[in-house]
Amino acid sequence: MADDEDVSPEERLLFLPDRHVRYFQRSLQLLPEQCASLETNRLTIAFFALSGLDMLDSLNVINKSEIVEWIYSLQVLPTEDQSNLNRCGFRGSSCLGLPFNPSKGHGLHHPYDSGHIAMTYTAIASLLILGDDLSRVNKKACLAGLRALQLSDGSFCAAPEGSENDMRFVYCAACICYMLNDWSGMDMERSIDYIRRSMSYENALGQGAGLEAHGGSTFCGIASLCLMGKLEEVFSEKELNRMRRWCIMRQQNGFHGRPNKPVDTCYSFWVGATLMLLDIFKYTNFEKNRNFILSTQDRIVGGFAKWPDSHPDALHAYFGICGLSLIGEAGICEVHPALNVSLTTYKRLQQLHNTWKSKDCEWNSDNMHIGT
Ligand SMILES: [Zn+2]
Repeated sequence: MADDEDVSPEERLLFLPDRHVRYFQRSLQLLPEQCASLETNRLTIAFFALSGLDMLDSLNVINKSEIVEWIYSLQVLPTEDQSNLNRCGFRGSSCLGLPFNPSKGHGLHHPYDSGHIAMTYTAIASLLILGDDLSRVNKKACLAGLRALQLSDGSFCAAPEGSENDMRFVYCAACICYMLNDWSGMDMERSIDYIRRSMSYENALGQGAGLEAHGGSTFCGIASLCLMGKLEEVFSEKELNRMRRWCIMRQQNGFHGRPNKPVDTCYSFWVGATLMLLDIFKYTNFEKNRNFILSTQDRIVGGFAKWPDSHPDALHAYFGICGLSLIGEAGICEVHPALNVSLTTYKRLQQLHNTWKSKDCEWNSDNMHIGT
């Protein structure tokens, strides 16, 4: 972390929102050379920056409509014969060199063009953050692409070409279905079964059955169940209490993801949000958590790193801010702990769902008139 020696301890604990706004603005404009390999995941970096700006109530510093068009240009649209329906969703960047098409008309055949589950999730979330009404999202195609990624054990792959399958992608799938307000994108029973079987002997969730419990996968599993509205149905109170114990034991000063690992900024959100969903975040030590997060703040260029004295990156910059939001830091919006967007964006999504519902009702009653 770039820092100078003669800064007083009080100054080190100052949260510097303006620096972070500039950091996120830069993250949207360019990728530093050492991050070039992230180009194919560009949408996820855009999500961290956009949601970060949203959390800091600073979306006014960017040109929203330009970014909305760019995100829509990354949608994998059905071709005229619909033969690629199982490969639809959003791609991570324009690296394939396809012509710019902001989701108008049909898609083009391309042997390597397909959606990626994390890109579809971050694309839809980013569109919502930017105030878009998702009217150009081809919901039918996104859901068909999503269904094609689910495996028989209930987990999801990231892309139709094949990839690892684990709890991260179950969470992406749950967020996509929740935001589109349509759970036909997954076999929910199978996914619930996958989450249940991922409970380890330590009483928290691993990436899959038989794997070590982990703060990240525990968040993904618990948040998915919350979005499905199934948490209390799936785990007994006794099981939830054991999970609460495992999670709260992850606090050292900040949080770590597994026993005997060093603390890392992003777990202030992953574990913190899980504790919030399990209703016991209030019993954690806010001051120690805050001091750790702020020790990883880059006071010169903005952003947060995973550890003190290391370089900031977009992921830790975003989750550092979300971690501070959970403890009520002034100048940061409230974060929705399951959907991982600001409460303002979450409320806008609820309004959007209500509009869709009333449109469906109008459509149905019109059809009844025609029928009578
Ligand atoms: Zn981390």
